Amino acid sequence: MPRYCEWKTVIIDGKPVRIHVQYSSAPKVEPCDYCQRKHEFLCDFEISPGKTCDKKLCRLHTGKLFGEPDKDYCPDHYQIMKREQMKIWKDSPLES
Ligand SMILES: [Zn+2]
Ligand SMILES: [Zn+2]
Repeated sequence: MPRYCEWKTVIIDGKPVRIHVQYSSAPKVEPCDYCQRKHEFLCDFEISPGKTCDKKLCRLHTGKLFGEPDKDYCPDHYQIMKREQMKIWKDSPLES
């Protein structure tokens, strides 16, 4: 069985500390829905009220919109959201 190890940064007493984590087998991290990297985010696009897309995304496949740092979108929904946001900006020009 292959040994897996990983460096993790944890916060101890307010300071980031690098610790070495060793697994006896591969950690069960599900891959990104678009590639083989491990996923770190889930798509926050609301498909229906209270239900989000939840596609698993790696850092590379996560789209973030300006002004919404907490929201992560899969490439498909990022395109939709970006278009929506541009529409809003066009419809309501900054007047103040
Ligand atoms: Zn990916
Ligand atoms: Zn999505």
